[in-house]
Amino acid sequence: MEILDGLDFLVEEDRNKTNIKLLKNSVEHRDISHAYLFYGNSMALLCRLALAFSASINCYKRGCGRCDICRNTLKGIYPNLNIVESEGNILTIDKIIELQKFMSVSSYMPGKKICVIKNAEIMNELASNRLLKTLEEPPDGGIFILLTEDISAILPTIVSRCLVFNWNFKLGRSDVESSDFAAIFSSLNDGIKNMIKSNDRTCVNPLNLSLEIISILKEMEEEIKTTQSKELKEVKNSGGDKDDINKYLKILKSRHKRQTSKFYKLGINHVFDIISAWLVDVLVVKFGASGEVLNYRQNYLFINENFKNVEAKEIFRLLETIEESRDYLNFSIYLELTLDNIFIKFQNLCY
Ligand SMILES: [Zn+2]
Repeated sequence: MEILDGLDFLVEEDRNKTNIKLLKNSVEHRDISHAYLFYGNSMALLCRLALAFSASINCYKRGCGRCDICRNTLKGIYPNLNIVESEGNILTIDKIIELQKFMSVSSYMPGKKICVIKNAEIMNELASNRLLKTLEEPPDGGIFILLTEDISAILPTIVSRCLVFNWNFKLGRSDVESSDFAAIFSSLNDGIKNMIKSNDRTCVNPLNLSLEIISILKEMEEEIKTTQSKELKEVKNSGGDKDDINKYLKILKSRHKRQTSKFYKLGINHVFDIISAWLVDVLVVKFGASGEVLNYRQNYLFINENFKNVEAKEIFRLLETIEESRDYLNFSIYLELTLDNIFIKFQNLCY
């Protein structure tokens, strides 16, 4: 079970924990369903998750991570494993016929035959119906794991044939293309200092700081939008079946929408990280530590001078507010308001 316990890209959240527990239980009791549907916010991480689960199913030690079965499955090269992926924008019926063939030939290696279908939402109708038939009369012992970032685009009859798991992943910087937060990092630290210093509010005030950050994010968003519209154009001009193209355009647009909101969330979360690091520094200085252990060592004297009268519990309260705001970002995109609120509370600490 070591592989499933070692996944480091899951958000610490009850839903993920319950999912892992269910998967581990089914591996433990050899009670594996014939069809799963994993959906979540990153195809690459969904795929890693599916491979970890597949390895756990077939490994003699139920996912040791060290045997040949585990290692080759994690690499995606174990003979009993078939990863289905479209080379183009549509997953067509020939891919499904291929996977049916793979499933029907009996296995010469130990373990079950497992088929992972990436971006299952881009199956066209013919392919979907063909897969549906297979799911209705599954081959003996075969397992299907469908992966998608957009469950709404999958045929409901297919969804109803699968055990559905919804995941929430921690996304790193590399998960958002063309994002560069260097500008935010460099200006924010100084911005916060100025904000605290500006008792007369002639320098940077919290509201201006929020606006500055939002405008940097907006600039970056423009770059993303340019790339996205290029992508749309390419698909439009690609030739091929009109219905397929229209279906794919719809999916692409909803993917772009998610990409943009993911980008904003990531950007604001970086800002929150910086403010949290500041607050932790203030706490550490208050408790008498030296400048060596600070996140921003250069701020030691500044913090000593400006945060003398702040109570620790106020800092804890603001740290909590930041964590709550992170959750709030999942539902709303009132970024300016959220940032203003935090900056103002931060500034008020010093008065
Ligand atoms: Zn193993």
